Amino acid sequence: MYLRTKDVKSQDFVGKEVTIRGWVHRLRKQKENAFVLVRDDRGGVIQCVFPAEKAAGLTIESSLEVAGTVSQDSRAPEGGFEIKGKTLKTFNIAPPDYPIGEYQSDELLLDKRHLTLRTRKMIAIAKIRSSVLHYGRRWFVENGWMEVTAPTIVKGAVEGGSTLFKLKYFDEEAYLSQSAQLYLEAMIFSLGPVWSLTPSFRAERSRTVRHLAEFSHLEAEAPWVTLEDILSTEEQLVSYIIQNTITERAEELEFLKRDVSDLKKVQPPFERMPYDKAIDTLRSRGFQVVQEDGSRRDIQFGDDLSIDSERELTKDADKPIFVVGYPIAVKPFYVKEDPERQGVGLTADMLAPRGFGEITSGGLREDDMASIVNRIKKEGLNPDAYDWYLDLRKYGSVPHGGFGLGIERLIRWITNVEDIKDTVLFPRTMSRVTP
Ligand code: ATP
Ligand code: MG
Repeated sequence: MYLRTKDVKSQDFVGKEVTIRGWVHRLRKQKENAFVLVRDDRGGVIQCVFPAEKAAGLTIESSLEVAGTVSQDSRAPEGGFEIKGKTLKTFNIAPPDYPIGEYQSDELLLDKRHLTLRTRKMIAIAKIRSSVLHYGRRWFVENGWMEVTAPTIVKGAVEGGSTLFKLKYFDEEAYLSQSAQLYLEAMIFSLGPVWSLTPSFRAERSRTVRHLAEFSHLEAEAPWVTLEDILSTEEQLVSYIIQNTITERAEELEFLKRDVSDLKKVQPPFERMPYDKAIDTLRSRGFQVVQEDGSRRDIQFGDDLSIDSERELTKDADKPIFVVGYPIAVKPFYVKEDPERQGVGLTADMLAPRGFGEITSGGLREDDMASIVNRIKKEGLNPDAYDWYLDLRKYGSVPHGGFGLGIERLIRWITNVEDIKDTVLFPRTMSRVTP
């Protein structure tokens, strides 16, 4: 039986003999002794001390099994425990050209991502990511939502044609899914409140720190809900994920130097800011938008909120803000129009605080057949491409709604890493499909 370093670092093991397996993470050879920092298969590390000649052939990332006695020494890095090595067995001696060291360009770290995964930073992020997914799933299970999956090879656009990845599907053309929403909508008629976690694909041509070409999309949909029901679901879910993750991953967040005092405050309710007020606030601060011809004008009602405007709105906030009631013109065809305010959608985006910006988008869906056909046509889309979706409005249509949350956006906020690429183990962007 071999143990993990985390278990070995305990008073109970002092003086006892243990066996661990792992890789050489750092190596310091002195005249008499070699100090080998061994990383186990969960990223934990412990110093193992060997007589120099025994460790002579070791190199960084060689894989090994160490048996020895645990001792406590305040000089030992990473918690004051070490192993006085007795036997050393190697599985593989890595050549001495291991490319990941202390100082590398971001590009090299991305090119060698399969190896970068062994760095402490990536291990910390991977663990936080695992907690985010775990608590997300747990919240839905505890609250009676049913987990489903939807296809990722599809025929119709959800978020507009410009970010579709086309693919050859046998003898016809198909796309990679941008969102599972239309499929979740089909499921609520027999399965009630449902949720899914599927990859969504967007051919994002803009290089930003918050867009990936493939991201993990957590989506939910339920019948007979109001917009307020949706917002309340979202704020409970996000608060639950954050509170549990920062407790479980305190060590990893500290390693990433993430001050979690703001995150501790993330509890419902989140502010609901009407879109009109958001525009007024931005106008009062002289916020401008760049027009297609490059000229600038003051932001006005009808404009979508850009990354910059979201940053401006949230920079002083310590909790997320819902911006409620966007104009339907800047939202997809399925967004339900407010029956009391023409042109305004029953929709809201959740903006994460301190400038992070949009992490979810949700609201009610247009459930009336004539209205949705109109909207599809208005967007220049062909209603025939949505025939199955339109059946949902034909047979037993009900008021319904839901939301989509970008897991990587949430992780970026929780970890405070600069670039969304670092929230995912193998990022896909416009300029990167390998490794
Ligand atoms: P944005 O305006 O930032 O491009 P969007 O309006 O296109 O976002 P939606 O289509 O509403 O986003 O998707 C729902 C959620 O999915 C977003 O709130 C965001 O968290 C996430 N998301 C959307 N596009 C991406 C992307 N390219 N990379 C990572 N996450 C994304
Ligand atoms: Mg987008």
